[in-house]
Amino acid sequence: MTTHTSTHASTIADEIAEKTFQDVSLCYQCGKCSAGCPVRYYMDVAPNKIVRFIQLGFYEEALKSSTPWLCAGCQTCSTRCPQEFDLAKFMDAVRELALEKGVKVKEQDILKFHKAFLHQIENFGRAYEVGLVAEYKLKTMHLFDDVDSAPGMIMKGKLKLLPHVIKGRKAVKDIFIKTAEKKQTKK
Ligand code: SF4
Ligand code: SF4
Repeated sequence: MTTHTSTHASTIADEIAEKTFQDVSLCYQCGKCSAGCPVRYYMDVAPNKIVRFIQLGFYEEALKSSTPWLCAGCQTCSTRCPQEFDLAKFMDAVRELALEKGVKVKEQDILKFHKAFLHQIENFGRAYEVGLVAEYKLKTMHLFDDVDSAPGMIMKGKLKLLPHVIKGRKAVKDIFIKTAEKKQTKK
């Protein structure tokens, strides 16, 4: 185990509880979540151990891990948990906190994808795949990766060239504005 980090020691678990409406102490470390996680192999720390880090106050270890960023949000863990602890939601909160605390994220490409995805939601109210791919490629400079699969996807109607704007677009935009304002007042 690496060093215990006292920074934010009294707040991170509380902040996660506030964001997820659930207490990390619910988890009793049975490991069922990690046993079923489809991307566990690629993570540096097992998902249940991220919960353990937070329970024990090893916040830096949790926030710096690649695990929350590799989590695909598939909900397998949440549905398997005997304590009904929503680990997928917990991972989301850990990602958010890592950004809020200015932690250097290991998985830079995933962070860029994360930001590009949110940007699409903010602008169109839903994911606009072509815009998402274009923004991600520009941010990462992986300009020609998988480019040969695009024509087939367009032909099959899997990729729409123009964005589909939802009715509640303004309401979604307002969520982003209010969230940004809330973050500003917290500083
Ligand atoms: S399955 Fe639930 S209780 Fe078991 S380790 Fe995972 S989060 Fe904790
Ligand atoms: S939601 Fe994330 S942590 Fe849970 S099983 Fe899926 S990929 Fe693994």
